[in-house]
Amino acid sequence: MKAEIISIGTELLLGEITDTNASYLASKLPELGIDLLWVTQVGDNLGRLKECLERAWNRSDLVLTTGGLGPTEDDLTREAIAEMTGEKLSVDPDLERGLREFFSFRSFKMPECNIKQATLIPSAQAIPNPRGTAPGWWVEREGRLLIAMPGPPSEMQRMWEKEISGRLRVRLGHEIILSRTIKTFGFAESAVDEMVSPFLSSTNPTLAVYAKPDGIHLRLTAKAQSKEEAEEMIAQMESDIRSLLGESIWGCDDETLEGVVGSLLSEKGLTLATMESCTGGLLANTITDVPGSSSYFKGGLVAYTNGAKISYGVDAALLAQHGAISPEVAGDMAEAARHRLGADIGVSITGVAGPTQVEGKPVGTAHIAIDDGREKRLIFGIYPPLRQEVKRRATYHALFELRKVLLSYSNTPSETVKF
Ligand code: ATP
Repeated sequence: MKAEIISIGTELLLGEITDTNASYLASKLPELGIDLLWVTQVGDNLGRLKECLERAWNRSDLVLTTGGLGPTEDDLTREAIAEMTGEKLSVDPDLERGLREFFSFRSFKMPECNIKQATLIPSAQAIPNPRGTAPGWWVEREGRLLIAMPGPPSEMQRMWEKEISGRLRVRLGHEIILSRTIKTFGFAESAVDEMVSPFLSSTNPTLAVYAKPDGIHLRLTAKAQSKEEAEEMIAQMESDIRSLLGESIWGCDDETLEGVVGSLLSEKGLTLATMESCTGGLLANTITDVPGSSSYFKGGLVAYTNGAKISYGVDAALLAQHGAISPEVAGDMAEAARHRLGADIGVSITGVAGPTQVEGKPVGTAHIAIDDGREKRLIFGIYPPLRQEVKRRATYHALFELRKVLLSYSNTPSETVKF
């Protein structure tokens, strides 16, 4: 089934509100096996709204609208649907009674303009809305379906969950769409694209590649008659992709790098400390986004200047000899963090966030070090030369490398495997 969403309201076009209704509905359609092909935003203008509705009606099997069902003159969804279908609006006595009761229950006199919320066209059925005065419309004609919902998200979401999704499920049978996201770090988007290119033309399951701050994500989506069948289809493609991308894969679906690292630290009974220069504390901030991180994260030092680095225990001679943006100093920072905060593992980041180069090193350069008291792992990174991007990429790179180190440990620090 091909679906289309029309979000109605001039506020959307003025940028005053964000179209969260469309994102909400978009996230709900796959589980019903409905393909969403278009999302349109249109203002409170009868002509343009009618034009959008006509186009949607002609090309989609299901049209979902939100907004414009209120009582005021600029709420025009009902009028536009009536014009589009060529049907006449009339007041429905049951709806009118319900509306008047709604107001009298709250001891208000119903403003007469509200009466338009009790109108229907012959091919529309009212959809109850206990959270507001605007009922939705379920319009069926010529084998197509149009569902009009109110704009306020709490009213729309309740209507979707309690009144619409179940009814659609029965009507559609059991086809479902299932997705799985595989998350990688270390390869460029174009490299991943090339590696998985044989799968990109597959139509079911489909494969899409996305560049995200924490690496490249691959989304596999299967459509099938049952959840089990869709899972099996995804599992097959996933195993092929895993064999291509190997160790660059760090997680799936809702997993985060900081969450994965946190779980490994807890599991292995290890503690962590950080010292950061160019990332200004972003690594510590990201680590502490995980609830319960105080059980393994001892703390983070932000050593932005050379003086601060020295005061936290970094060797001044090393700094003078190699400069702050060097693997040597990164290694010393990780060791100093570990000692200073009494942790099993120290992680450091030093680099050039930009916009200008430092010590002759280009913007986007970073040195990361991981010191666990047995070995110092030194990692070089070069990222797109945008300040925020360098900070974010360096942070995720450090977490990705830390994950690799943690995976090489057995479950207690004393039984550490040498690497
Ligand atoms: P009402 O009876 O409240 O007038 P309505 O169906 O006419 O409902 P609108 O007047 O279009 O809806 O919108 C009411 C409010 O709902 C907006 O001010 C906004 O806060 C919220 N809203 C409307 N559309 C959206 C949307 N697409 N995404 C998020 N919020 C929205």
